[in-house]
Amino acid sequence: MRFDVVTIFPAMFAHVFEHGGVIARALERGLLQLHAHDLREHTTDRHRQVDDMPFGGGPGMVMKPEPLIEAVESIRSENPGPVILMEPWGERLDQTIAAKLAAEPGLIIVCGRYEGIDDRVRVALDAREISIGDYVLSGGEIPACVLIDAVARLVPGVVGDPESLVHDTFSEAPNSEPSGWPQFTRPAEYRGMRVPDVLLSGDHKRINEWRLRQAERRRMQVPQRHHSETKELKKT
Ligand code: SAH
Repeated sequence: MRFDVVTIFPAMFAHVFEHGGVIARALERGLLQLHAHDLREHTTDRHRQVDDMPFGGGPGMVMKPEPLIEAVESIRSENPGPVILMEPWGERLDQTIAAKLAAEPGLIIVCGRYEGIDDRVRVALDAREISIGDYVLSGGEIPACVLIDAVARLVPGVVGDPESLVHDTFSEAPNSEPSGWPQFTRPAEYRGMRVPDVLLSGDHKRINEWRLRQAERRRMQVPQRHHSETKELKKT
């Protein structure tokens, strides 16, 4: 799958994705391609200006339509996927949207800055607007990284053991069980906190039942989760 990003800070993407982890490995293996395009290369004026004052007045600056539209048009022949604008008022990203987008051949992602993007960009590019949550960040680069990460790990082969995707929290894979149970690794006891005995029992039926129950409880108690889990870990 191919990701093209249009941004005024293309270097941010290599920093996020090329150091390590499953996505870095998939990029190395060619299973994923990530191209960050510098928006300023699509400006024509001496100052390489990408923003201008808002019509109608008001604070801040707005991203100009021409460089964004021309940048995306220059990418389109290489990437047939949908165009996505990262915007705080867009459709809220969730696992279902991520899974649908992972079935596309690629995504072209536009990162806003300043007060936002001239609305003609959305119209001209027939773009979909996606938000990563109800809060405002200073630019679309971090949201784009969140989107790329969520989508890329659902591309077949990116995560080595597909079984781990089935058990992800929010997974909608067929036959998936509710998941997101508490996980433990060695040592079995640390600072008086013991791993629940059932997990050391080797009894897979009981282990599964325990996990499903815990996952269910976790989903019902998200706000108090930290508190209740800490209390439950038996100190000896
Ligand atoms: N004044 C605007 C905020 C602009 S933030 C408003 O109140 O809505 C500047 C850019 O950051 C946006 O164009 C968008 O690309 C990005 N951005 C900020 N918060 C975001 C979020 N929650 N999800 C996706 N993109 C976001």
